[in-house]
Amino acid sequence: MLELPETHTLASQIQANLVGRTITQVIAAQNPHKFAWYNGDPATYPARLVGNTIQGAEAHGMFIKVQLDRATLLFSDGVNLRWHPAAGPVPAKHQLLLAFDDSTTLCATVGMYGGLQAWAKSESFENPYYTTALEKPSPLSEAFNWNHFSQLMADVKVQQLSVKAALATEQRIPGLGNGCLQDILWFARLNPHRKVNTLSAGELKGLYESIRETLLQMTQLGGRSTEKDLFGKAGGYPVELCATNAGGYCSHCGGIIIKEAYMGGSVYYCGSCQPR
Ligand SMILES: [Zn+2]
Repeated sequence: MLELPETHTLASQIQANLVGRTITQVIAAQNPHKFAWYNGDPATYPARLVGNTIQGAEAHGMFIKVQLDRATLLFSDGVNLRWHPAAGPVPAKHQLLLAFDDSTTLCATVGMYGGLQAWAKSESFENPYYTTALEKPSPLSEAFNWNHFSQLMADVKVQQLSVKAALATEQRIPGLGNGCLQDILWFARLNPHRKVNTLSAGELKGLYESIRETLLQMTQLGGRSTEKDLFGKAGGYPVELCATNAGGYCSHCGGIIIKEAYMGGSVYYCGSCQPR
């Protein structure tokens, strides 16, 4: 799934490689997917998008916004974006394919679920999650300072939650989801089940620093090793806690990595240095 490190990586790769290319052909919903979210009827996508030139790309939380001269494209959640050079093969199955004037293609496929939303300049577009991502400070920005974070965590409702629920649900921190959360909590030596109101001042400060540093490192290294970039290459950040490490040893203390289903997704933690 796309989280902050991946949206930043993909947006910067689109910015570096696709700006100035004009869309000559659009195929939307070639392979119907129950959980691929379009803006209106995908049959309208060619009329909305053909003839547009890519102006730039930006990451906002879990979203990648691709700005065209007369329209906007917004990708989110479980969308896989791949750019195919002219000579390369293009996957037979896709949910959105954009062909450019130099015979290269941008191909979007959806895993479990994902957004592929397009709207013309003359149309209005609303997505509450996107609005939230635009309004709240990015954890990579200076605005996400200790003052902002400590206020967020001091909220009466947040105090009652587990750290997983507080950090990775409802997009309180744009772009931080259940994927990035695992290593953030591992570096902070906190169990995902810990209630926010049980954290000491030192643990809270350590958690803040881990959010900043882990997300920055994941982004600078081109995303997590469990995800792929615009060229189909795995990210350079080696994920410590993920499915492949479950049952293995913690590289910090040698404890066993535990996998559990918790709040609509798997959590991973070291049984020794992140006790419940
Ligand atoms: Zn450990």
